[in-house]
Amino acid sequence: MIIVCETKATEAQISALQQVIREAGLQVHRSDGTEYTVLGVVGDRSRLDIDAFSLMPGVRNVVPVSTPYKLASREFHPENTVVPVGETTLVGGAEVVVMAGPCAVENAEQIEASAQFVAKSGARILRGGAFKPRSSPYSYQGLGVEGLKMLRHAADSYRLAVVTEVMTIEQIETVCEYADLLQVGARNMQNYPFLTALGRVKKPILLKRGMAATIQEWLMSAEYILTEGNHDVILCERGIRTFETATRNTLDLSAVPVIKHLSHLPIIVDPSHGVGDRRFVVPMARAAVAAGADGVLVEVHPDPDKALSDGPQSLTFEEFGTLMNRCRIIATTIGRSLARTN
Ligand code: PEP
Ligand code: MN
Repeated sequence: MIIVCETKATEAQISALQQVIREAGLQVHRSDGTEYTVLGVVGDRSRLDIDAFSLMPGVRNVVPVSTPYKLASREFHPENTVVPVGETTLVGGAEVVVMAGPCAVENAEQIEASAQFVAKSGARILRGGAFKPRSSPYSYQGLGVEGLKMLRHAADSYRLAVVTEVMTIEQIETVCEYADLLQVGARNMQNYPFLTALGRVKKPILLKRGMAATIQEWLMSAEYILTEGNHDVILCERGIRTFETATRNTLDLSAVPVIKHLSHLPIIVDPSHGVGDRRFVVPMARAAVAAGADGVLVEVHPDPDKALSDGPQSLTFEEFGTLMNRCRIIATTIGRSLARTN
């Protein structure tokens, strides 16, 4: 249920409403819009006398939320949420934000060269895995904390923010020391105790869609983070499993407008894992921007054929330059922007 407050509701009235809700044993989340404040009420509704509550000063109306996710719903927060990442980047605003870098950090030179090139091309955020969720225990697992240090150093040298995956509750504190945006991988999207722990950190979360998750399940996972008080969640479509085998996954670009309709959270698209083949990454990145995505997450490697993970889907520097130019044209055409070479 959400409470829409009167446009002229005073701070004292809003506080009184919040207090009554809490005294009834329910949780309340406040969202201040440009026109009015909305209170999201979570818990057993029967504990509150809704008729009496509706008459309290400051209440404009009480609306039941039809979806099982509440805080992630557009009803609770009609305006788009804009998530700050690092010192200067905003995801969910007018700018289409590009996050790029190798699948995994392999050594200092590799991540340094990647950072330099992606920054020069207009990317804002450097990606690179230090803790890798590999399908095989025999595949490259990442450099761990050493990798995080290299990633941070390379990003700082080129004024980029850092996104990297965190895989366990135990890793959260360490990853927070080095990253500006914490990535939850597709395989962890339904790890609920992990999501709850991420809801308590003070860094934004990039929540990838599980490979067999419906949009509703994905938004329910976002809800786990939001309900703990971390409101900075960015969703990432990265392809789902279907009967199709020509591509690694099936990139569900319809998720972009559907999420925009259902939720206020920003959504970005990862065409690299979506298709798994570098030849198809640029067109799908363009399509993602055209569909309204707030950003793209792309794998780029100085020498993809020698990459220790996900080489076949990693772009060369040249291909990445093409991607940026093509996506910039689309962004501008739809009234958005994409950073230029700096
Ligand atoms: C990744 O971004 O490198 C990754 C492992 O992604 P996903 O969780 O989407 O498979
Ligand atoms: Mn990868």
